[in-house]
Amino acid sequence: MEEKIHLSFPHISGGELKYIERAIEGSWIVPLGPDVNAFESGLKEVLGEECFPVALSAGTAAIHLALIQLGVGYGDEVICQSFTFAASANPITYLGGKPIFVDSELDSWNLSPELLEIAIVDRIKVTGSAPKAIIVVDLYGMPARMNKIKVVADKYAIPVVEDAAEALGSSYRGCMCGTFGDFGVLSFNGNKIITTSGGGALICHSADMAERAVFLSTQARDNAPHYQHSVIGYNYRMSNIAACIGRAQLTELDMRVIRRREINTMYRKGLIDIDGISFQSEPSDEYYSNYWLTTILFSKALMASGALERVVSRCDAMNIETRPLWKPLHLQPVFEPAPFYGDGTAEGLFNCGLCLPSGASLTDEQVEFVINTIKGAF
Ligand SMILES: *Cc1c(COP(=O)(O)O)cnc(C)c1O
Repeated sequence: MEEKIHLSFPHISGGELKYIERAIEGSWIVPLGPDVNAFESGLKEVLGEECFPVALSAGTAAIHLALIQLGVGYGDEVICQSFTFAASANPITYLGGKPIFVDSELDSWNLSPELLEIAIVDRIKVTGSAPKAIIVVDLYGMPARMNKIKVVADKYAIPVVEDAAEALGSSYRGCMCGTFGDFGVLSFNGNKIITTSGGGALICHSADMAERAVFLSTQARDNAPHYQHSVIGYNYRMSNIAACIGRAQLTELDMRVIRRREINTMYRKGLIDIDGISFQSEPSDEYYSNYWLTTILFSKALMASGALERVVSRCDAMNIETRPLWKPLHLQPVFEPAPFYGDGTAEGLFNCGLCLPSGASLTDEQVEFVINTIKGAF
């Protein structure tokens, strides 16, 4: 049997041990230290001077802290893109808030600005006040239509959290994903574009906000000689050893993005002859996706012929990992009571889509092997 071809396997850069050894020699095996600061500076270099990144234990923790800083509390409504991973919305419920799900637009697969406005207007009508925040996602690395989303958000004075967990290295109109919202969120989980083994970052837009995030993520200790607390804190800070891995990984970010985009191009060229297969694609040259995962769609005719099932089972037999697209959150049992504003776009994509192996460590031969396996199903 061939070696398993994974969807998105962690890619070791080789430089990780050097950073870790230095940290251990200096006894920085603690949840703070020089490598956390250096990793944050590295992120700032990537994202821009006006960003203040705070390294955390997970992307999910970053969403949680963003919502806390935006004042989301018990009973507050928060709008969230439905077409995403559950971690985008879970922190709303940690705070006793109520998720309101909104559908995607067809070209970016991300939050529809039109449906967003419909949802806001209706929530104001139903509850008498506007939702407390909007969580928009850059799904599979594709930037959301941020200019229009910001216009709608500004019109109703609702802050935006950009969940760019999958989109480090992507950009929209020349600006990096993760920098658009009032807060941005990155993930360095093992399967993401770069990894710290597990980790995330909250992207703030002022030193004060970042300082507050550090405070909240390190148990919210007041400035006093004894342990004194005036607010509830969290243990969410990134460990120094994880930051060592992140520093090494960050040096290769550009190469990782280039490689994922190359793999995406290989799939497009390799599958061009199959009628009815299409791709999540940049809607215009304003969009630059890191193509974290290459995702394909099967046409109605292909679906009717059972092609999706045939591709999945052939890939399984060849030890190639594939995965359906994210199941929209408004269809998840746990979120069943949540209101949803949509036109079936995310559900339609979910029903006929598939994620293909896309990790930057895949060889050309492995990608060709996947392409040939898919072609063999036709
Ligand atoms: C991975 C992911 C998260 C969560 O990040 P963690 O670091 O795993 O907590 C949130 N949102 C999206 C869209 C993700 O893909």
